Amino acid sequence: MISNGKHLVLMAPPGGGKGTQARVLRDALHVPHLSTGEMLRNAGRAGTPLGLQAKALIDKGNFVPDDMIVGLISERLDEPDCKEGFILDGFPRTLPQAKALDELMFEKGTRLDHVIEIQVPNDLIIQRIIGRFSCTDCGAMYHDTFKPTKVFGICDECGGTSFTRRQDDNWETVVSRLKTYQAITTPVLPYYEYQGLLSSIDGAGTVEAVSEKLRKVIGF
Ligand SMILES: [Zn+2]
Repeated sequence: MISNGKHLVLMAPPGGGKGTQARVLRDALHVPHLSTGEMLRNAGRAGTPLGLQAKALIDKGNFVPDDMIVGLISERLDEPDCKEGFILDGFPRTLPQAKALDELMFEKGTRLDHVIEIQVPNDLIIQRIIGRFSCTDCGAMYHDTFKPTKVFGICDECGGTSFTRRQDDNWETVVSRLKTYQAITTPVLPYYEYQGLLSSIDGAGTVEAVSEKLRKVIGF
C-alpha cells in the first residue's frame, strides 16, 4: 500500500451524519467505506478463523475485544479493493484502538492521510435523531421537522400509510450514546491533532454543505 491521500478516518458523534458522508466520499474517491458495525455483522462471511471467532462472540451477544477488531480490520485492509485507500467509519473509537491502527498501518508500509472530525452540537443531534421515522413498507426516511412527508401520514415514495420509529431513537438512549462518545472517543482527537492529521469541519449544515467542506479538506 502506498500513501496517496485516500487513507481516511471519519469521526463524528452518533447521529452526526458520518455514514452519509462516508458514502459520498466512497463515490467521489472510489475507495471502500469500511464501517466497523457492518464488518462485525459480516464477520463470519469471509470464513477466516478470526471472522468465525468474532461471529461466535457476536451471536452469543458478547463484546468483541479490541485485538480481534484490529485483526479483522487488518484482514480487511489486505483485500485488493483497499489498495488505493479506504474510509474507516466507527474505528478507531478509543485511544488504544488509534494506537493499534497506527502500528497496523506501519506494518503494512503505509499511513493515514486524514482524520476528519464532523462536529455537530449535541442539541442538534438530539433533535435530528428523535424526529426520525421511516415508511414501514418501503423504508423511506423522514423527519418530523427537517423532512416531513409532503402529505401528512402518506409516504412520498410508495403511498404507504404505516410508519415506524426506532426504539433506541429516544432521548435517554441518545444522551447516553453522546456521553459515551465524549468520554471515550474525544481523547482520540488530540492524538491525531498532534500528528498533524486532524481536520474538524462543521457538520450542522445540509448533506451537500458538509460534503463540500470535506471536499476542501481532502482535495477531490
Ligand atoms: Zn413508503
